[in-house]
This record gives sequence, C-alpha cells and structure tokens, in this order.
Amino acid sequence: MDAPPSPQPLEPTRKRPRSESEPTASLQHAFSRDERFWYEDGNVIIIAQGVGFRVFKGLLAADSEVFRDMLSLAKPAPDLSRESGLDDCPVVHVTDTAAEVRSLLAILLGGRRYMRRLKFEFDDVANCIRLAHKYGIQDVLEDSLEELKKYFPATFDAFATRLTSETSTDAIVAANLARLTNTLSILPAALYGCCQLDGKELLEGKVRKDGVVDTLNFEDLGHCTDGMRRLCTLNVQLASDVFSPLDNAECVIIDRCNTSLATLQLKWIHRIPRGNGDVLAPWDLRGYDRKKKPKPSSPLCASCIALLEARATTLRQRIWSELPDVFNLKEGSEEVVSQEDAVMSQGDS
Ligand SMILES: [Zn+2]
Repeated sequence: MDAPPSPQPLEPTRKRPRSESEPTASLQHAFSRDERFWYEDGNVIIIAQGVGFRVFKGLLAADSEVFRDMLSLAKPAPDLSRESGLDDCPVVHVTDTAAEVRSLLAILLGGRRYMRRLKFEFDDVANCIRLAHKYGIQDVLEDSLEELKKYFPATFDAFATRLTSETSTDAIVAANLARLTNTLSILPAALYGCCQLDGKELLEGKVRKDGVVDTLNFEDLGHCTDGMRRLCTLNVQLASDVFSPLDNAECVIIDRCNTSLATLQLKWIHRIPRGNGDVLAPWDLRGYDRKKKPKPSSPLCASCIALLEARATTLRQRIWSELPDVFNLKEGSEEVVSQEDAVMSQGDS
C-alpha cells in the first residue's frame, strides 16, 4: 500500500529489536502451534514469537501484495518437516507479535467485516491497524480505524457517546496509531486521554498482555505537557463561565437563582481538584434543583438548570474545537481532516 508517509513513524518499544519480515532457511525450529489458527490442511506456517500459525497462502495473499511477495519466498524447512511430520509445508518468520498475527487472522479468516461480532477488544483493533497498515490490507485498515474512532472520535458529539476502553493508557496506543497511519483526526481525543493519565502512566506507557510496551514519542509527550497545563486552566475558566449570571425570562425567581450562581461559581472554582484537566466531562446539575429533598444550599429552578447545562455543552464544544491549539499541534484542524481524507480516498481509487 502506498499510504502517505507518517510524519513520525512509530515502532513500539519491544523486548527485542524488530527487523524486517523475512523468510528464513535456518530456523530456530522450536515453535508451539497456535491453539486457534492451526489448520491441518493449511499450506504455510507463519511463525511469530515462537508461535506457529498454519494457514492458507491464498487467503493471505488475496488482498496484500506484501503478503504475496513474502509468502512467495517461503521455503519448506527440511529439518522441521522431518521432525514434525509437516510435509514440506513452507515456513515464514515474521517479526510481528503473536497477538498481532492472531488478531489479524481473526479478521482475515473470520469474515472481515464482522469486527463487532468477533467481540474485538481495543487491543485487537490496535493489532489489526498495525498489521493491516504494514501489510497493506486497505479494507481491514479502514474498518479498524473506524473502530478505533469509536473509542477516540473525531467529533464532539461522538466523543460524548464514545466507547471507553478497559485501560486508560490505551490513549497512548491510539495516539501512536494516529501517527502511524497519518489519521490525525484521532489525535486530539487520544492526546486528551493521555492528559488524563498521571505522570508515571504517561511515561511508562501501555504494557500489552504479552509485555510489549507502547510509549509516546517525545514530540507527543511535549504536546501533552502543553495540553495538561492548558486543560487545567480551561477547567477553572469553564466553571467560572458556566456559573456566570443568567438572564432567564422564564425564571420567576431569577434573583434567587443568580445569588445561588454566585455562590456556586466560587465553590466550584475552589472545588476543582488541582491538576484536574478533564474539562470535557459532562455536566449534571440536577442535584441543585430547588424541588429536591433535602433542599440544596444553593437551589436553582429547573429552567435555569437546563440553561446552565446547555451553556456548559456549548462551552465544552468550543473547547473541543480548540484542542489542536491546546496541544500546540502545528497541524490546523483543516489539515487534520484533509490528510485523513487522503488516506481514506486511497481505498476508492
Ligand atoms: Zn431560575
């Protein structure tokens, strides 16, 4: 696939350096058979991290030139065949992790477009993006990126209803995938997630189940440092703006409501824990309803509460649109969109 080059190609930190995939005649021999992807009539064995996957050449080669070339070079390993009764089945070693290969095979052999039905977790989605990008499998790449956007969306509305992944450090993985595939529209939500991590988590990165570690590159760490400071400031500003006086014609006790607002404004500004930059979190002010029992100390009428919540949404929406500036990303939001379109349109050409 001729995807546009990533501005910052990323490789996760691995236990061992990752070299190019290549078939090899001198095998290290020992491998265990994958429990799921070992077909007795398969005609190629892919070995990743000591795990062998016996699958079908044609299926892998059908949509990937990279696979096609790689598999055409696969050779039987005479020693292995004799010892294990593998009948001259060609073998190819890859430098991907076994988990990555397993996720990709689940898509390729399991009906491709049924990611939801396959109950893919975030890690599987990430694995598929890495390998579909590497092996140039465009439809799997596009579907997987769409899946990633359900966790780290490109719009404010989608952000409000996003899927939450199990691990908060998945935001680091998402930022790296955005860079790897040049899908920069994912970057603001991903970096926002990174800014909600504490320093140790942010620096140590996401440790995958198999021990592989994903960390942010220096450039994005810098964007997060800029972002954290600004998000905290914006959070204080937001509380101040939301609770500024209302001019609500539908309110019959507007003086009382505005008195409550003045109190709440001060309370909230002081109540925001130091370093809290979760400025996009939803607001729920129903607890201040004057009809609530026991009556809250700063009561508001239902009409004013509705206005305040709408005001908070508008302000958060504005902050969302300013995220590229918050993170000091050089890419303007227009460029972010056009670059992504460029990646996606390759599938149509
Ligand atoms: Zn009111």
